[in-house]
Amino acid sequence: MDDYKQIPPIIASINQYCPEHDKKYQLYCSQHEQLCCPLCIITNHKKCDLLAIDEIVKTSRNSALFEIMEQNLKEMKNNIDRIVEDRRQNLEIIKQQREGFQTDIKEMRAKINIHLDKLEQEIQQDLQAAEQKVMSQINRFVQKVSDHEKTIDELQNNIAATKRFATDLQTFFGGKMFEAKIQEEEKFMTSLIEDSGLQQIHLQCKLDNKMSDILSMTKIGEISVTTKPSTISMTTDREKQAQKRIPTISKTINDINLTLLKQFEISKK
Ligand SMILES: [Zn+2]
Ligand SMILES: [Zn+2]
Repeated sequence: MDDYKQIPPIIASINQYCPEHDKKYQLYCSQHEQLCCPLCIITNHKKCDLLAIDEIVKTSRNSALFEIMEQNLKEMKNNIDRIVEDRRQNLEIIKQQREGFQTDIKEMRAKINIHLDKLEQEIQQDLQAAEQKVMSQINRFVQKVSDHEKTIDELQNNIAATKRFATDLQTFFGGKMFEAKIQEEEKFMTSLIEDSGLQQIHLQCKLDNKMSDILSMTKIGEISVTTKPSTISMTTDREKQAQKRIPTISKTINDINLTLLKQFEISKK
């Protein structure tokens, strides 16, 4: 009783009796793929090739069909297992690739940082050196001018002292000497106007365009997904092999069972 319940409903529903004529099926029509009762034959299958059900049924239990079907299902499950494993491995590869690219990006950033630090240090030093150079240039010039200020101070003092304390003769000749010296100093003062030492000196620092290019960058890279042909191979040859092994007489049974199997699959979904 319980064993009977284990039979799937689609099998249990295969009736031995023709529902149309209420007679027992006796023959199988391979053209129409139908079980026929004597009345079916008279009405619809007069010219068909008919096989005795007893003959067909006898071979079905002994035939390799069920074994082959079971083997087919087993292989389908194997295939599914391999597909799932293959997809799992693909996910693992994707994860590794994502991690690898993340490391690449980080490493590239670190390299850029180190490189920019080095370049910045260099240009800072160059700036210092450039300032240092013009600073000593200006200082040397100021020193030269200051030296002349001392000469002028001396002349002022000498002239004042001469005015106050010298004799007329001394004042006369001294005045000529002072005049010559003042002319020399005036010459020097005029020379300063043409001297490059009075030019305005400016530092220039033009940053490389590539620096501002970095700021106008909108992304570091592109992410894309590519596909390659599958490397998984499925065992599908079994079907062809199976058909070769089925004896000719039971080929019709094979057909019945295959249609049933198809229906079964559909109803399962
Ligand atoms: Zn019938
Ligand atoms: Zn027929």
